[in-house]
Amino acid sequence: MIKNHACPLCGCLCDDIELHIKDGIVTDVVNGCLLSSGKFRSPGRMVTPIHREGNEWKETDFDTAIRMAAEMFAAAKRPLFYGWSGTSTEAMHIGLEIAEEIGAVMDNCSSECHGPTIMAVQEVGHPGCTLGQVKNRADVIVYWGCNPIAAHPRHLSRYSTYSTGAFRPEGRADRTVIVVDIRESETAKLADIFIQVKPGGDYALFNALRAIVRGERDVIPDTVAGVERSVLFKTADILLNAKFGSFFTGIGLTQSRGKYKNVRAGIELVDELNRHTKYTLTPLRGHWNVDGTNQMFSLAAGYPYAVDYSRGIVHYNPGETSGVDILAKHEADAVLIIGTDLGAHFPRETVAHLARINTIVLDPFISLSTAVAKLHIPVASVGLDAEGTAYRLDGVPIHVKKAFNSGMPSDEVILSRILDEIRKIKAEQK
Ligand code: SF4
Repeated sequence: MIKNHACPLCGCLCDDIELHIKDGIVTDVVNGCLLSSGKFRSPGRMVTPIHREGNEWKETDFDTAIRMAAEMFAAAKRPLFYGWSGTSTEAMHIGLEIAEEIGAVMDNCSSECHGPTIMAVQEVGHPGCTLGQVKNRADVIVYWGCNPIAAHPRHLSRYSTYSTGAFRPEGRADRTVIVVDIRESETAKLADIFIQVKPGGDYALFNALRAIVRGERDVIPDTVAGVERSVLFKTADILLNAKFGSFFTGIGLTQSRGKYKNVRAGIELVDELNRHTKYTLTPLRGHWNVDGTNQMFSLAAGYPYAVDYSRGIVHYNPGETSGVDILAKHEADAVLIIGTDLGAHFPRETVAHLARINTIVLDPFISLSTAVAKLHIPVASVGLDAEGTAYRLDGVPIHVKKAFNSGMPSDEVILSRILDEIRKIKAEQK
């Protein structure tokens, strides 16, 4: 039995999981939510690399598969490495080294989720805090454009709404919960106040609240984005009377009309509230290590995602150097998919392009990306048979331990060997 194990599924990275293991198989998961249990107990791992020959898949060994991948990347004119939110930051670091070596574009999943949040933070800063601060201090909690009950099931019980804390001993009874969303989500049903905003109205709503907090009640019209003025006044009063308030924002803001401007308006509301009391804002990051992608990319390349090494210096321009744009323009001729499943999430046209080029998948499981790949190398899974560092959604690094030994190589090991092979190929070409 293993105690205090971190769950590598969502950005909460709950590190109180108890695993029961028999013969290299997880038989029971204690403390984890349903998503966690599914992850730890998922069957059907791949153990042998496969590559495509004509219309058929052939099994191969790891040495051959690694050499194949290195040859494809070394010969590529516009390689793209995409994903990374489902692997360790150590593996990302090696990926960045390979990208620099061959002039590839390195992009991660935040390009498609909280990239706009990062752009807003680059403009107006990040009034963040740890989840521990929320648990111990927050008496007003606002979920805006997110539904943690579905996507981060233990967020409310472990870190926010229902948890007890040093200054919130009664837990839920000590907190007021406000949910702002375009529909009455599962989280909204648990709120003290649910504000239903018209789709695309978040920017206006943030600014209306900001005006009220600033004392400009007279300028507010009868309704703003479908919300009555009286509701806005009441909400602003609750926000202003908090001792410590925490906003959690989701992709309802980043992937709707207004995009990063919505988050920017949210941060500016938090700034305004901070003139009166204490407020913070934390994006609810989805994948368990998507925050780690931004941390590691920023550390190694200076930018959090959409990093292009093709010019010999780092070039960053989301919309031009993002993975989806490079695929949509049919620029990429070799793609590494790691720690995500592009086949499941990207637009059909871009997935069709993946089928025409050298696409290589590193994943413990057959995925929809496998269907369009030329080569699939199976790997150990961080938190099961591999270990590594991940960053929780509040930016706290957590060591994700290995639960058992399977003998499968980790992403880190495979990528290091691909890097060595690429260097050998380049030396042979000189
Ligand atoms: S809330 Fe997220 S990190 Fe926590 S146990 Fe569930 S899936 Fe895992």
